Amino acid sequence: MKASPDWLTDERETAALAAMLSPTSSHSLEALAAESRAITLRRFGRTMTLYAPLYLSNYCSSGCVYCGFASDRKTVRHRLEPDETSRELMAMKKLGISDVLLLTGERTAAADFDYLRRSVEIAARTMQRVSVEAFPMSVAEYRALADCGCTGITIYQETYNRERYEDLHRWGPKKDFIDRLETPARALEGGIKNVGLGVLLGLSDPVEDALCLYRHLRHLGLSWWRAGMSLSFPRMRPQTGGYEPPFPVDDHLLARMIFAFRIALPDTELVLSTRESAAYRDGMSSLGITRMSIESRTTVGGYHDPANKEKGQFEIFDDRTAKEFCLALRKQNIEPVFKNWEPAYNGPSSEQNSATTEPLATEPCH
Ligand code: SF4
Repeated sequence: MKASPDWLTDERETAALAAMLSPTSSHSLEALAAESRAITLRRFGRTMTLYAPLYLSNYCSSGCVYCGFASDRKTVRHRLEPDETSRELMAMKKLGISDVLLLTGERTAAADFDYLRRSVEIAARTMQRVSVEAFPMSVAEYRALADCGCTGITIYQETYNRERYEDLHRWGPKKDFIDRLETPARALEGGIKNVGLGVLLGLSDPVEDALCLYRHLRHLGLSWWRAGMSLSFPRMRPQTGGYEPPFPVDDHLLARMIFAFRIALPDTELVLSTRESAAYRDGMSSLGITRMSIESRTTVGGYHDPANKEKGQFEIFDDRTAKEFCLALRKQNIEPVFKNWEPAYNGPSSEQNSATTEPLATEPCH
């Protein structure tokens, strides 16, 4: 088994963050909130960038114990065909969405790299910004996705505790802890411009995981300092399989994490999804969070046919419409941002994120 890298346990850089996250911290939640709010306003203004997820497929070859799409769940499996993907994207567009996150499970014959690449091509014709949350890929595969208009990937380590990781990922490619840990660097090397990292809160000690998450981001920043980075704070939600989180994170600790990360990483985008309640999301929107999902469906598709009753990957909490959500933001004087990226900026994937790497060969997208 490949050893974990030294940077993952290097405590030298995380002392200040650890002090803010400690249950016995001398920093009051109110003081952290005030500082986080001031930094957010200074760096991001009164804005909130909005995106929506589109599940392309629920096929999966892995057995993550916490997931409704794990390969042992009795769930009807299917994938969106190209005409269905276009129809879903048009339905999303009508809701005002221009920033889409395409999701699949682990690589399978039904939803493999070619399928994902074709889906990115279709999405890039309709959407301003296309990101993927799928299986780990090679540098060449990421380069091909970037050439087709993909600008971002999201890849959560889920937990950085290697023993817990081993237990939670019962079988399949996702069992490879180190391969997953190294995936964001491969994506950046392939010309992907933004990477989103996160841990699934509830699986392991949340403070330990938060510190490792910080080290992961800082480690990537040393080589890929021009890349965009974001961090997410997903808490576990009920799902098929009924897995109960052994390390539940309450509202106060989650708030403390958001404020502490904003203070420690003033320029990093912090994301909060519809896993959280409307009240909690409204509360966090001016205090540190700068990117949120809206109108989420965790079923395959579901935008064209909102009456779709199939089970999703997990249950969402904030089910407000885009209109209702924007109204709530504006009540707080926060401007919802549906477009903050122009595809003309995408450029070739050989336009690297670090300043010192050699140009990559690129192939045209067909
Ligand atoms: S979390 Fe992802 S890889 Fe794991 S079972 Fe679910 S869809 Fe598959």
